[in-house]
Amino acid sequence: QQRKLVVGNWKMHGSLAANTALLNALRSAETGPAEVVVCPPFPYLAQAATLLAGSAIGLGAQNCGHEAGGAYTGEVAAAMLLEFGCRYVIVGHSERRADFGDDDARVARKVLLALEHGLTPILCIGESLAQQQAGETRAVLQRQLQAVLTHLEPARIEQLVIAYEPIWAIGTGLTATADYVADIAGYLHQLIAQAMGAADNRPAVRLLYGGSVNAASADWLRQLPDIAGVLVGGASLKADQFDAICQAF
Ligand code: 13P
Repeated sequence: QQRKLVVGNWKMHGSLAANTALLNALRSAETGPAEVVVCPPFPYLAQAATLLAGSAIGLGAQNCGHEAGGAYTGEVAAAMLLEFGCRYVIVGHSERRADFGDDDARVARKVLLALEHGLTPILCIGESLAQQQAGETRAVLQRQLQAVLTHLEPARIEQLVIAYEPIWAIGTGLTATADYVADIAGYLHQLIAQAMGAADNRPAVRLLYGGSVNAASADWLRQLPDIAGVLVGGASLKADQFDAICQAF
């Protein structure tokens, strides 16, 4: 069975003092069998890498630039993330799609750059409340996924982590139901298998769920066979809550 993955997306939160307390608490807690990754804001990557040295907790970034380098004021290149010990990078988070111009084409560029630099992209996809209410969920997910998968060989697709985050569940306290997540996860695995030309419809791609994940929802999410872990926002900032989620997996 695949190793489960629990990723903490700190978003624009943290401080030198708060990060030290959080990471030291996570380090000293018993970690379960799941792979655990934290994604702090860029300026704290070096601090986090130092605090996590020798621990099993991995490091990721929340975004990377859409070009390898150059005159892009304010951007951070994939190669720089690698230098600071990142193994993962979140790409296409709905907050970036909504507020920072990360459209499907740009998200695809970032995924390719991340892969070229040996980073594992955590590709985020998800429908808005309006799209869900209009019955467009599957079409939206298909478009977001195809925009990236169409550029990748099957061997590359296998290296992706895909995070399904319904936008209406992010930061709202509304977690999707188990049936809903199971249904969408099955559909996404089908799309991935098609893109890979795989006969078997459960390829090795790790599919995460995100959106108001807490210890209680982690308990049922871990039981869904198509879900390989979670992408956690708010609860990843609290050592006890994040640890409880990691333990569940
Ligand atoms: P919350 O867990 O705070 O809902 O955030 C989810 C998310 O967007 C993680 O990327």
